[in-house]
Amino acid sequence: MTELFLKEKTRESFKELEEHQLSLLQRQLRRVYHRSRFYREKFDAAGVKPSQINSLKDFAKVPLTSREELEQNFKGILAVPPSEISTVRMSSGTTGNPLRVAHTKRDIAMITDASARRLLYYGATKKDVVQITSAYGLWQAAWSMHWGAERIGAFVIPVGPAETERQILLIKQFGTTILYAATNYHFRILEVAKSLGEDLSRYKLKLAVCVAEKPTKTQTEILKMEGGYRTVISDYGATEFPGFSVNCKSNPDVHHVWPEYYLVEVVDPKTHEPLGIGERGELVITSLQREAFPLVRYLSKDLTTYLGFTKCECGLCHPTISADIDREDSMTKIRGVTIFPSHIEFLLSKFPEVTGKCQIIVDKRTPAHEATLRVETAASLPAYRDKTLKQEITMEIKTRVGIGFNEVAFVPQGEFENKFKKVIVIS
Ligand SMILES: [Zn+2]
Repeated sequence: MTELFLKEKTRESFKELEEHQLSLLQRQLRRVYHRSRFYREKFDAAGVKPSQINSLKDFAKVPLTSREELEQNFKGILAVPPSEISTVRMSSGTTGNPLRVAHTKRDIAMITDASARRLLYYGATKKDVVQITSAYGLWQAAWSMHWGAERIGAFVIPVGPAETERQILLIKQFGTTILYAATNYHFRILEVAKSLGEDLSRYKLKLAVCVAEKPTKTQTEILKMEGGYRTVISDYGATEFPGFSVNCKSNPDVHHVWPEYYLVEVVDPKTHEPLGIGERGELVITSLQREAFPLVRYLSKDLTTYLGFTKCECGLCHPTISADIDREDSMTKIRGVTIFPSHIEFLLSKFPEVTGKCQIIVDKRTPAHEATLRVETAASLPAYRDKTLKQEITMEIKTRVGIGFNEVAFVPQGEFENKFKKVIVIS
């Protein structure tokens, strides 16, 4: 295990890493072309053969792959026979089909290694106690952390989503040192602990892994002060590219990408023209070793800046991207405050009467940019709850995000089943 980590540190030359990536890429493209019907057809339609890719520059000739294509071509993309698939993951789709991702045993081993390396990078050892509060099921993130923690021999508490009081009890009972939670949930835990008269900084917490969004500087300070954490990091990845990167421990504003597993590029989000180092655009991801469900020039819909290979003071010299990552199709600003529907969905998850699906409508024609939140209700919402629930949701969002929606409107279940825009801006 330590060997894996040391290999990282000794590979000092960017050129050597780039050459290594190119040979992995060439091998992967040959494999994908022969085994995946979907990619072969795409290559053929573009008149490109894997044998023509002799440099990273040549790689720009290969067609890009969209999220919608992944959602609609699960079987065609598969590059292994079904008998070799070990497991499947899913995330909500944008086209009405959920995004399905399959893994072989070897894919799982690679995700596990990437996750274990990340933990070792932060100084985790088998003495650590890792508490995972995110949902397992068909989502990937909790599994990645779980597999990595097991791999380094740590003690894993796979609690998943549970009552916050219970999470706090586990932190105390087992001496949790690493807490894996959505950024906002970290704060919920602190808040509930306070209301119970508990001072979490008195326990053994040392590493806070923040999922879903990058904590701000102030949030990081609060977590350190009130939670007793020594390190606060953000977790970036997605169901379709698990085990992608590590948040730099010296500079939280960047992520280092694991170069053996992923090749990254950045393109203009509108024209899809390749952008250079230091330019902000849409992150394009190619998996270099994935067996079952390979990604080839995948348009991630995430906007970031590619910073090239950097020799970082943390000791890694990997491809690096900015940790200021925006979802291209979903973020919006309401009266100067950036809002992500995923964040609102997370806040809605505490209300059992709604499904969690929502739509934000901002009317920029009005002087105050009035904002409406449309929320899908579960089938059983009794009429008498209508008004109070709307007030509770408004208050929760105002407290957590700092903005007030002018109106919360309920829509019946099923309204958001098919393709729908999470954000509509009327201008
Ligand atoms: Zn670094």
